[in-house]
Amino acid sequence: MSSNLFDLLERATTDVERNVISTADGASWSYRELFALTAQMAHVLVKSGVKPGDRVAVQVEKSVPALVLYLATLRAGGIYLPLNTAYTLAELDYFIGDSEPRLIVCDPSVREGIAQLAAKVGADVETLDAAGQGSLTRKMTQQPTSFDTIARGPDDLAAILYTSGTTGRSKGAMLSHDNLYSNAATLREYWRFTRDDVLIHALPIYHTHGLFVASNVTFFSGASMIFLPKFDPDLIVSLMPRATVLMGVPTFYVRLLQHAGLTHEATKHMRLFVSGSAPLLADTHREWHARTGHAILERYGMTETNMNTSNPYDGDRVPGAVGFPLPGVVVRITDPDTGAMLPKGEIGMIEVKGANVFKGYWRMPEKTAAEFRDGFFITGDLGKIDERDYVHIVGRGKDLIITGGFNVYPKEIESEIDALPGVFESAVIGVPHSDFGEGVTAVVVCTKAGAIDEAGIMAALQDRLARFKQPKKIIFVDDLPRNTMGKVQKNVLREQYADLFAKPAS
Ligand code: AMP
Repeated sequence: MSSNLFDLLERATTDVERNVISTADGASWSYRELFALTAQMAHVLVKSGVKPGDRVAVQVEKSVPALVLYLATLRAGGIYLPLNTAYTLAELDYFIGDSEPRLIVCDPSVREGIAQLAAKVGADVETLDAAGQGSLTRKMTQQPTSFDTIARGPDDLAAILYTSGTTGRSKGAMLSHDNLYSNAATLREYWRFTRDDVLIHALPIYHTHGLFVASNVTFFSGASMIFLPKFDPDLIVSLMPRATVLMGVPTFYVRLLQHAGLTHEATKHMRLFVSGSAPLLADTHREWHARTGHAILERYGMTETNMNTSNPYDGDRVPGAVGFPLPGVVVRITDPDTGAMLPKGEIGMIEVKGANVFKGYWRMPEKTAAEFRDGFFITGDLGKIDERDYVHIVGRGKDLIITGGFNVYPKEIESEIDALPGVFESAVIGVPHSDFGEGVTAVVVCTKAGAIDEAGIMAALQDRLARFKQPKKIIFVDDLPRNTMGKVQKNVLREQYADLFAKPAS
């Protein structure tokens, strides 16, 4: 039997008349209507020459037809390859050259530039705009509403998602039909999704969080979603009385907390708030609980692995922790240098194994081999497992600071600084230092300008942290640089402050 994710979805859908997607303007689609659209679009793809295993590269604004395109690509046996809408033509040159797609779907405004890149790899180009209009949807109207989905095996590729590539070249993570299915099925059970759920979908759909976690879990539960083009706090608060779940990045929660309408009453109908893709501040977790009575459920995953761990549905959702390994996922902590397993409580490299873990990096067999050890994927995240088996993340391995030969985990310093009155949040980085190798540097955002100064922070840390961990310099900023998924871009900060401790030219 076919393991095509779409075939599995069709088999799992017991009532095709139920609503699956609605939009803020009142439009809605049943599963039957969604499936018919995917059939029409799959015909268009096949007519464009898309054959099983071909890549369909997509850089478009979020819209319902864009989501239809994802499912249609699976039906045609193709490999869906979404690209961040922020990428410039110069960046797309690399992605298109590397992935050699058969078809590229882009916004009409960049058609000309894309066509030149497409010509280099012999790809066709179709357009789709933010309103779901374009050559792609125009061609759909004449197509039949049924399509024989191409059978796929569990290990055949369903998608390639490029990693954000904050160091070195972005890599294409190859995800199979079973990688996606197994994770969706696990999360559906773990988070108790049912067909009565209504998800507020405000995440981008070029990333694992919005595309796979949010959409696939909804689909495989027979549930429905309110599909929003972007994060809009007013709209989200107003939709909560008819929704049950919100999935967000931490910045969603920080910004919603600034909304006067966020109350116990407004969130009464909601059953679950999920956060991930970047660390949720423990303070945000607590404040949210005080304001709404809900404990945000934080989970941990990545493009390469889908979701790995989650705080429990029942039981303690611990602020600052990412919960337990999901059923079927094994998490271990190893010594980053030797690879030896470390006991509970010790900080080391997080490695994961399970049906969720990807098939490797596209056309990078050596890089792939280097990032696996005995079947475990070496995530690059540093963390520990506590006495109660909760996993904690202390930062990316590449963010580890080595100063005077000592290891400093930024998260430890950030937690101390964040806990000080007057501090909203902080990012601790290492920048080149002539004496110490790297100098610990804290970049701090205050709750309001001047709420605390460098001397105040240094005095407070004096008795809390060993001297080598104390920042050599504190810099105050209005905001930390973040990418679209809310991750603090420490590489940007490291570049910006690279000369902080440079010796003056003599
Ligand atoms: P991405 O591949 O863009 O999803 O990024 C994955 C990375 O985001 C992980 O390797 C972690 O470093 C980080 N991440 C995801 N979820 C969390 C979380 N709940 N807490 C801390 N970091 C997270």
